[in-house]
Amino acid sequence: MDRSWMYNIDRLINGNIVNPDFERQLLEFITFALSKPRFADRKNIRCPCNRPKCRNTTFRDPETVKVHVITEGFVPYYYNWVHHGEPRFSLTGYYNHMTGSNTPVPDYAYDLHGNNHESDEVDAVGP
Ligand SMILES: [Zn+2]
Repeated sequence: MDRSWMYNIDRLINGNIVNPDFERQLLEFITFALSKPRFADRKNIRCPCNRPKCRNTTFRDPETVKVHVITEGFVPYYYNWVHHGEPRFSLTGYYNHMTGSNTPVPDYAYDLHGNNHESDEVDAVGP
C-alpha cells in the first residue's frame, strides 16, 4: 500500500479548497483508526497532525482530527499507523509503504532492536 499520499498530495487547492483526493484518503485513515478495538470504547482518536500539541499524543474527535490534518499536515514519517491500531511494520513493509514499491528487503536487514542495517546491505541487494 502506497502511503505517499499523506505527504505528496496537496491538501488544499488554491489554498482554501480541500482537495477531495486528500480528503478521501484522510477519511479512510480515520475510518481505519475508528475500526480498531482500542478506540471502540471512545469517540476520539490520537491526532496525527503536525501541531506540537498533537503529534499522536492528544486524543481528539474525528472531525477535529480531520481539520487539523488538512490545515497542518501529518506529523513527518508517520507511514506506519502504530498509534491508530496498526501493527508495527517489518522494515520491508515500512520501506514499501514509504516508496510504494514492492522491493523485498531481507529480514536480516534489521535486528531485534529494530535497528536498520539496510544501508549495510545495499551492495548485496543488487539486481
Ligand atoms: Zn492535531
